[in-house]
Amino acid sequence: MGNWNELNESLIDLIGKTPVVRIRHLTGEDDAALYVKLESFNPNSNSKDRTAYGIIREAERCGQLKPGGTIFEITSGNTGIGLAAIGAALGYKVVIYMGSHYNKERFDLLRAFGAKVVPFDKDEVDVDQLKEKLIKLQQITPNSLFSNQAANPANPSIHRETTAKEILEQTGGKLDAFVATSGTGGTITGVGERLKEAIPGVTIHLVEPENSRVVEGGEHGDHRIYGISPPKRPEVLNTEILDGIIHISDEDAWQTARDMAQKEGLLVGPSSGAAVWGAIKVARELGKGKTVLALAPDTGERYLSIGLYDEAHYQDDESLAAAELSNL
Ligand code: PMP
Repeated sequence: MGNWNELNESLIDLIGKTPVVRIRHLTGEDDAALYVKLESFNPNSNSKDRTAYGIIREAERCGQLKPGGTIFEITSGNTGIGLAAIGAALGYKVVIYMGSHYNKERFDLLRAFGAKVVPFDKDEVDVDQLKEKLIKLQQITPNSLFSNQAANPANPSIHRETTAKEILEQTGGKLDAFVATSGTGGTITGVGERLKEAIPGVTIHLVEPENSRVVEGGEHGDHRIYGISPPKRPEVLNTEILDGIIHISDEDAWQTARDMAQKEGLLVGPSSGAAVWGAIKVARELGKGKTVLALAPDTGERYLSIGLYDEAHYQDDESLAAAELSNL
C-alpha cells in the first residue's frame, strides 16, 4: 500500500496508508483528544478504494477473475469509482448500475475510468430483484464477478487488514474509542473487530441518521448523509462489536462537515461530518486524557454541486465590500 518515499509500481500501491490528524477547534479543553483518519488521501479520495481492491484481489485469489474479465456492481458511487479505476489499471471491464437520480459528477467519474454505466429509476426498479438478476448475469458471463459489496466478506477483511492495522500503528494502540458511520458496514466491522482484539477496553460507536435507524432494526428514512444507512441492514455488518449507536440529523452532519473546513481546514463529506459529530460527543463523555478516533470516508469536493458549501451557509462581511472600500 501507498509509499510516498519510493517508486510505486501501480495504482494499487497508492491505496491506503492514509494520515491521521488531530482536531483542535471542535473539542473543548476537558474533552478527550480527537483524531480523524482522512480517507480522502486514497487515490480516488475515499475509503472505497480499499473495498474495491479487497474484493477484486479476493476474486483473483480464488481464480474467479482474471484480467480481461468483467466486474458488475450496483452502487451509488464511491465503490463503483474505485472498481472502475482499479479495473482500468488491472485490465477489467466494469459495469455499474446506478440510480439515475445521483448527480452528474458521479456518472462522469465512472465514465472517466472507462466503466459502462447503466442508470436505473429507483422508483421503478427493485434493487433486490436487480441483485438477483446480476447474480444470474454473473453466472452466465465467463470470467466475471458481481462484487456485491454489502454481502462480500472481502469488504470487511480489507479494512481489518489495512485500515485497522494502520490505526494500530498510528495510535501505538493508545486508543479508547473508534467512531464511524456504516454503509455496507465493511469499515466499522473490519476495523472494530480488529481493534477489539488488539486493544482491551476500546469501544466502537456507530453514527446513524436519526430518521433512518436501520442498524437497530428500524424503518429506513430518506436522509442526506450520502453513502450510509441504506434501506436494508447489510449482511457484512457485525453489530456485536458495537458499544453504542449515536443518532444524528442531516443538518448536524452537514454543518460539522462545513465546520471541519472552516475551523480545521479539512474538506470532508457529510458522512465524515456525522462521524466527527459523534466523536465529539464521545470525546466529551470520556474526558481529558483519553483518545478518540473518527473515520472520515471522503472529501467535501464530491459535494460541491449539491450545495455543501452553498452561499446560504455563509455570511459576507459587509465592512469589506468593494463599495465601502471605494469611500476610502
Ligand atoms: N461514507 C461514504 C461517503 C461512503 O461512500 C460509504 C460507503 N458506502 C460510507 C461512508 C460507509 O462505509 P462502509 O460501506 O464501509 O460502511
